[in-house]
Amino acid sequence: MRILVTGGAGFIGSEYVRRRLASDPAARITVLDALTYSGVEANLAPVADHPGYTFVRGDICDPDVVGQVMAGQDAVVHFAAESHVDRSIHGAGPFVRTNVTGTQVLLDAAHRHRVGRFVHVSTDEVYGSIGEGSWTEQSPLAPNSPYSASKAGSDLLALTYHRTHGLDVVVTRCTNNYGPHQFPEKVVPLFITRLLDGKKVPLYGDGRNVRDWLHVSDHCRGIDLVLHGGRAGEVYHIGGGTELTNHKLTGLLLDAVGADWYRVEHVADRKGHDLRYSLDDGKIREQLGYAPLTDLAEGLATTVAWYRAHRAWWEPLRERAGL
Ligand code: NAD
Repeated sequence: MRILVTGGAGFIGSEYVRRRLASDPAARITVLDALTYSGVEANLAPVADHPGYTFVRGDICDPDVVGQVMAGQDAVVHFAAESHVDRSIHGAGPFVRTNVTGTQVLLDAAHRHRVGRFVHVSTDEVYGSIGEGSWTEQSPLAPNSPYSASKAGSDLLALTYHRTHGLDVVVTRCTNNYGPHQFPEKVVPLFITRLLDGKKVPLYGDGRNVRDWLHVSDHCRGIDLVLHGGRAGEVYHIGGGTELTNHKLTGLLLDAVGADWYRVEHVADRKGHDLRYSLDDGKIREQLGYAPLTDLAEGLATTVAWYRAHRAWWEPLRERAGL
């Protein structure tokens, strides 16, 4: 199977590419990535010599480049996005451009080239915030940040290409990921790298916001299950089953690094901060046999160990992003 992976130099996309090529010598993957501030080509160094791997630096909003790389592909797994909520609050333009227009350019090209399957990687944030219970795949979308609104736009647009054009689209909506190679602006690596440097970590508001955490390897396994077994035109939740307040997550990270609560600084809450996300992921568990395999405590411990051992990876990125 020839797969076009967009955003393959980012955190989740690179895990997906490394994992896919490592497990299948016959795999054929073309990565299309613009190498924005969060794209790191070195994330793909372990597979650079795989005979089925091709890297193309290019923008998903550019119809010429997208048309060229789309020709001959059997499937698309679409990760490329502007992905950081805080950045979207400071400026929504790049989010609308990449997440909405870029997705439209990809969908048009996939339709034109009769690509057999298009997996659109979306997020639980498209639903907004939920006080109690969990969202199902039928719950209405009610995003609250420019990031989640742009993801909701692309998510719905992808589904319309199935209904309108018959393109074989499947959408995954996943909870918060953590693991190695995550850009150090996101909360888990931000806290780990600051703690490793002896600095304080900024905890938003009272820390009672709840997120469901999933190891990136489990997310990528879920995507593969949907790529191969999902039904066209449908949405699949990929959950972690480990809901935690940010306060509790902070405590686990402090323990994992061996630091105390005096290293935590309470800062003004994020504007429009969603209180809680929660997915019902019964559908993918029942229909496709998905279950997360990485226990949170073990996953956080290996993640901390990875950041400890890879200072040369994250220090220049932190500098590049002015963190
Ligand atoms: P990331 O920021 O680490 O990676 C994004 C990648 O996309 C980078 O390599 C970047 O260079 C590339 N990119 C950005 N704009 C581009 C453009 N215009 N053209 C081509 N490439 C471009 O993000 P991530 O955390 O790996 O997230 C990947 C996807 O998963 C996103 O669609 C995100 O919405 C979704 N998602 C993320 C999470 C999470 O917890 N990180 C959870 C659910 C869903």
